[in-house]
Amino acid sequence: MQATPATPVPTPAPTASPAPSQSFKPTKRTAKDYIFGKLIGEGMFSTVFLAKDIHSGKEYAIKVCEKIHIIRKKKREYIKREKDALNMLFSVPHGFVKLYCTFQDDERLYFVLSYAKNGELLNHINTVGSFELNVAKFYAAELLLALEKMHAKGIIHRDLKPENILLDENMHLQIADFGTAKIMDPKEIKSGVSIQEEDESRNERSRKISFVGTPQYVSPELLHNCLDTRTSDLWAFGCIIYQMISGLPPFRAATEFLIFQKILKMEYEFPEGFPADAKDLVEKLLVLDHSKRIGADDQGETYESIRNHPFFAGIDWDNIWEQTPPTIS
Ligand code: ATP
Repeated sequence: MQATPATPVPTPAPTASPAPSQSFKPTKRTAKDYIFGKLIGEGMFSTVFLAKDIHSGKEYAIKVCEKIHIIRKKKREYIKREKDALNMLFSVPHGFVKLYCTFQDDERLYFVLSYAKNGELLNHINTVGSFELNVAKFYAAELLLALEKMHAKGIIHRDLKPENILLDENMHLQIADFGTAKIMDPKEIKSGVSIQEEDESRNERSRKISFVGTPQYVSPELLHNCLDTRTSDLWAFGCIIYQMISGLPPFRAATEFLIFQKILKMEYEFPEGFPADAKDLVEKLLVLDHSKRIGADDQGETYESIRNHPFFAGIDWDNIWEQTPPTIS
């Protein structure tokens, strides 16, 4: 393995910020504690490398952000939000990439993350074309459980898509990329809706929507940029179920503008043979009025109305993370 990120300079000694873990030993870390290996992926503001902890031999995915790039692009808030959200989710045993620690040197910020060995859900969908119904149902169920935990903590992801859903070494799902997440005020959590948002974050998301490829999963209310609600993630959830079963996202067009138009006009169709229960659930999630989406009225920490939908018949909600996922086909 070679030191790929331009041989990090570890002086002066960086300050490590360990996530709240009992098992993680909060020593001061530097890039020299890891052997950097292959490039795993690239985001708009970061590069992700496979890295091995020289002490434990454990593999991690280390996200490296160039400070100058972050400052130039005014992304400090983005980095902070990702760190805050991942720290809040650290104690949740399943469903999320884990942030073990962060550190920095003069030029870069480092996020030491659990390595999701089996990569993006998107690649798996694209490899097989579309999922068998039992596979789609299983991953939709894991995604719903993760959304329940995340929303209960007051985090709205706002950029859920099959690229941001990773699969670990046992093929269980992990949500990643919390840079555009909204962390709600504790008093807003019960209603699941937030109407106040700092300008920087709002502008940043608008910019991001116009920068990032095709925003096929964005909800109408996020497009209007008028409020933050956990039901925006439920809209994306509907798009992802549709895509797992049909192979493509529901709203497709040649340009971003046309995709936006289609979303706002709810212009999408189900391919022939799309299973009836799945169609019914997707139709109940893809509702223009966010307050009328299935799950919007659910109180407490579980989306009972969604769990009880016939699409999920037979799902063992209590043991799903312990099950062996069905083979993707
Ligand atoms: P952005 O929207 O900010 O550009 P991104 O998700 O594209 O976000 P990164 O978070 O930097 O950017 O991740 C880039 C890619 O690296 C991801 O798409 C994913 O394929 C891969 N990746 C990120 N984190 C992990 C991880 N913990 N384990 C495995 N692969 C990861």
